Amino acid sequence: MEHNIDQATKIYTIFCDLDGTIWEQGDPSELAKPGYQPKMIHGSLDKIREWDSKGYRIILTTGRKESLREVTAKQLSYAGVVYDQLVMGIGGGSRVLINDLRSNGDRSAFVFQPERNQGIAEIDL
Ligand SMILES: [Mg+2]
Repeated sequence: MEHNIDQATKIYTIFCDLDGTIWEQGDPSELAKPGYQPKMIHGSLDKIREWDSKGYRIILTTGRKESLREVTAKQLSYAGVVYDQLVMGIGGGSRVLINDLRSNGDRSAFVFQPERNQGIAEIDL
């Protein structure tokens, strides 16, 4: 995946979606059912652990409703996903990240959009 990351800083805060991004998109009506466990997309868990070991902040974001926090946290725990924060209820619309440029004019924000259920294994940070 081609990108232009600021190699000088190398401290990243990653906002990463859940459904369809780190684990497979499931039927929304199934998400909260007892015993439901999303299937991790190949390579996603290793990538998250790699980012964690590099000291990156991992903020998981999801359009899932806040009322699904407990079940979502359990699913993440069962899957072995490490993270710093879980931000819920951000809706299913397009996400827009706004952040000022660095004082030297370098970019301070980047976007990666893998195909649904492709996963994050190809993203090198
Ligand atoms: Mg998604």
